[in-house]
Amino acid sequence: MGSESQPGHIDQIKQMNAGAVYRLIDRHGPVSRIDLSRLAQLAPASITKIVRELLEAHLVQETEIQEPGSRGRPAIGLKVETEAWHYLAVRISRGELALGLHDLSGKVVVEEQLPLAPEAEEALSLRLCTEIDRFFTRHQHQLERLTAIAITLPGIIDTANGIVRRMPFYEEVRDLPLGELLEQRIGVPVYIQHDISAWTMAESLFGASKGARDVIQVVIDHNVGAGVISDGRLLHGGSSSLVEIGHTQVDPYGKRCYCGNHGCLETIASVESILELARQRLAQSGSSLLNGRALTIASLCEAAQAGDPLARDIIQGVGLNVGRILAIMVNLLNPQKILIGSPLNQATEILYPTISDCIRRQALPAYSQHIDVISTCFDNQGTMAGAALVKDAMYNGSLLIRLLQG
Ligand SMILES: [Zn+2]
Repeated sequence: MGSESQPGHIDQIKQMNAGAVYRLIDRHGPVSRIDLSRLAQLAPASITKIVRELLEAHLVQETEIQEPGSRGRPAIGLKVETEAWHYLAVRISRGELALGLHDLSGKVVVEEQLPLAPEAEEALSLRLCTEIDRFFTRHQHQLERLTAIAITLPGIIDTANGIVRRMPFYEEVRDLPLGELLEQRIGVPVYIQHDISAWTMAESLFGASKGARDVIQVVIDHNVGAGVISDGRLLHGGSSSLVEIGHTQVDPYGKRCYCGNHGCLETIASVESILELARQRLAQSGSSLLNGRALTIASLCEAAQAGDPLARDIIQGVGLNVGRILAIMVNLLNPQKILIGSPLNQATEILYPTISDCIRRQALPAYSQHIDVISTCFDNQGTMAGAALVKDAMYNGSLLIRLLQG
């Protein structure tokens, strides 16, 4: 190692500094070079050098800043240039593929939802490549320079190497090197992350937890899981691990879960489990607003809000089970905010007080008394989760350096 590690180390510092400067311009722009030097805690000469490279690559631009009340010559400020740079964000979920073209600010240029059958003759990776090719062909006239592809999906993922180990619903997938495959085919860097982790990053960068240092985000949908932001960073971001609250036992005598254990939270709180419980309870009970209606999460939430005892009871049951696990997480992580991302957000007035009360009763009062339980800004559709991966890669400098090198 010794002398060999030196250049790598310098490259790493260069990447980090460039990323930090870009982040500050993105967050504070238009911002002067002097303010940038102070904010980045870098010498003016270093700022001048980094900014020159960013300007030459058309990643930032100069603009005049007129100080309020000042009649002097306007100062020169810097702001990011985002419209001429695009990336593709891809979201794979149960039976559905979302493709979104974004500009570097994160703004959606065009987004489409397409069916993606869990089982098909052709391999998932091939179908994905075909759909991406067709998407680019359809929207060729809108496409600016392509910088990256971001993919979010459920499953067990080796994010560092872009390998999808296993996926729910798409059972053919085994150790699929999706990152390498797409990178070779399309020629841009590919970022892959678990959908719940990426969604947690998206809320932290663009949404409901923006600016908060410590956040727990719980997703209650087809799967149940959590993402954690600790001291401003995604916990376990670099590894395959998610905060697996969905596979924490809440009922030792409960149903067998696909993970191999019994009575996991997911066997009680996933959308499918909730609807199954509602069906069973409806069969036993005579009177409910849900009788004779199609049973969906939307109709369940509507009935609960109209005061239907059975529907309320089911949603409160989910709140108690999720709340009990959140109380433990609050004691471990002391978050400022708890975000809930779920189709059950159609009944927040019933779900959230149950969760909050449970946390207040079961976690350390000093930690629990100031916590806000709020809804995520984005829902579990669309491609904003992928947008977070690209923004993160610009901020940590890894994608930025590649764009600077042309
Ligand atoms: Zn399980």
